[in-house]
Amino acid sequence: MQQPHADESVAAVRAAIREVCKKYGNEYWREMDRKGTYPDAFVREMTELGWLGALIPEVYGGGGMSVTEASVILEEINRSGGHASACHAQMYTMGILLRHGSDEQKQRFLPSIANGQTRLQAFGVTEPDAGSETTRIQTTAVRKGDRYVINGQKIFISRVLQSDLMVLLARTTPYDDLEDKTQGLSAFIVDLRDAGEHLKVQPIELMFNQHTNALFFDALEVPIKNLIGEEGMGFRYIIDSWNVERILIASEAIGDGDWFVDKAVAYAKIREVFGRPIGANQGVQFPIAQAYAHIRAADLLRFDAAARYDRGESCGAEANMAKLLASEASWEAANACMNTHGGYGFASEYDVERKFRETRLYITAPVNNNLVLAFLGQNVLGMPRSY
Ligand SMILES: Cc1cc2nc3c(=O)[nH]c(=O)nc-3n(C[C@H](O)[C@H](O)[C@H](O)COP(=O)(O)OP(=O)(O)OC[C@H]3O[C@@H](n4cnc5c(N)ncnc54)[C@H](O)[C@@H]3O)c2cc1C
Repeated sequence: MQQPHADESVAAVRAAIREVCKKYGNEYWREMDRKGTYPDAFVREMTELGWLGALIPEVYGGGGMSVTEASVILEEINRSGGHASACHAQMYTMGILLRHGSDEQKQRFLPSIANGQTRLQAFGVTEPDAGSETTRIQTTAVRKGDRYVINGQKIFISRVLQSDLMVLLARTTPYDDLEDKTQGLSAFIVDLRDAGEHLKVQPIELMFNQHTNALFFDALEVPIKNLIGEEGMGFRYIIDSWNVERILIASEAIGDGDWFVDKAVAYAKIREVFGRPIGANQGVQFPIAQAYAHIRAADLLRFDAAARYDRGESCGAEANMAKLLASEASWEAANACMNTHGGYGFASEYDVERKFRETRLYITAPVNNNLVLAFLGQNVLGMPRSY
């Protein structure tokens, strides 16, 4: 299959990740899925090789890579049959620290994240009563001397039990006291190792192997030196990181999409029914070809968005469109692959049903496609706001 991005550094990253992923084939991921186990060996190796520190500048011991290169890392994990959600947050979450953290915070946290001593894989934003309306979150951070005291609850917070650090968004000014509702939220680095009884973590069972939890904070103390940037500006900082997040999510979906297409094509060629390969039937062939075309289109938008970001240009429209189209294309490819496999698609040993469950997430999280469409409709096309 042709790769649309021929840049040498991107090709080198792609080849290197493929080598690592070869050691963690479908059997590895199937086993993790069956037991609900975190793929620790894979995440550890990726960290030790420096791939999960790709976006950390070299001065802090990271890879100093572009978003284009980083996106290929996650794409290749999914394309190999794995699932990058086990480790992608280290890349997304890092952005807020890189762009808004103080020099002291960067010195304190980034080198040990880059060398793998510390894991930052958790990002605590979503709450049960706020959902997609982040400015309505109610978890509070109240300043007491040289600490903030956190109380409240979060939902769907992934990899908390597999992380040392978590970036947390909490309310520092009551909602009703704010004229600008995008203010009054602050971002903190929480050291989960010190949380003890003050943080209860309750795992949530999900339809695929993702380690996601409900969190309950009871007077958890966070030192003021762990406040990122200015108090009250946390939501703005999170918005700043959305474009990179969208590009990286699109890349994972594209990796999945290509995995489904490869798998469907291979099966369509060898499975014979009515005396000929099923792939000769247009009812089987065309849905795969259609999904493939949609994946390639989304892929071009992903590389366009990433290149714009890397050049320091605005890329909100492109990043959002890439996420929208890539998540739809991977889901389309998942269904085409499932249909191609007939009954065998439901058998775990074929991996199709596992990847099918995994790839559905990209339509819903970290942001729902409805809200992506609202961004395009309102912010890009200038139509009236729905919220
Ligand atoms: C597996 C998984 C892992 C996750 N990991 C994390 C994590 O690590 N950290 C974290 O903070 N969060 C995480 N999330 C949460 C995720 O980001 C939220 O589920 C998502 O933001 C949507 O919130 P919600 O589920 O409350 O949906 P809701 O906001 O209740 O929305 C429900 C539906 O209504 C639609 N809707 C709502 N308002 C509008 C509107 N104005 N116009 C059109 N449609 C609308 C939505 O698009 C959606 O289809 C995770 C979620 C999942 C499923």
